[in-house]
Amino acid sequence: MRFRYPCPDCRSTNSLHDPDCRFDGTPWPEVERAYTDVLVALADGTKSEGRIREATDGPWDPLHSAALSRLRHEQRLKETRGGALELRSAEEFKEQVSEPTQEPIRTVYEKGSVPGTHDNAVFAMVAYYEMVGLSWAETREQVVAWLHETGTWTRGGFEEASPEQLVDSKRHVYDQGYGWKEKARAAKAIIDRSL
Ligand SMILES: [Zn+2]
Repeated sequence: MRFRYPCPDCRSTNSLHDPDCRFDGTPWPEVERAYTDVLVALADGTKSEGRIREATDGPWDPLHSAALSRLRHEQRLKETRGGALELRSAEEFKEQVSEPTQEPIRTVYEKGSVPGTHDNAVFAMVAYYEMVGLSWAETREQVVAWLHETGTWTRGGFEEASPEQLVDSKRHVYDQGYGWKEKARAAKAIIDRSL
């Protein structure tokens, strides 16, 4: 599984940050250092946030806080019952993120798409899996399976000859790292009316 250390604020993976990003201009090795400090602290066991801070060698700065938040948000970490943080295994992470639990993507994931909003729905699914850190091959596999399992493909309304071809036509969404929320919201509105 790929893990690219996105900017913890704007999620950019290169030096072009969003205009209002807090970490624009931060040298990339510092970004990576913040992530690895957190990951190394958690590698030898579950820890509270306070213990993670204590375990890092250098000073704990806003970049470290942001990296920790980003890891939690993208479900790389999970919270134990006692409120400590634990690193998910790659397998567990993949299982966890393959089923989106938050709306509006959950509806798209569970019900599948309907003619009239396929473009939005497939866009949103690809963008979602990119956001949570699946590789392109994993994203493609997940979205193709979703097209079959939800009955989306049999509902028709596609110009492409196969689910694989359809997903491949959305490769640019993955490569550009587009957001999923707006497209998922549009798709959910139509799915809710149709199913
Ligand atoms: Zn940024």
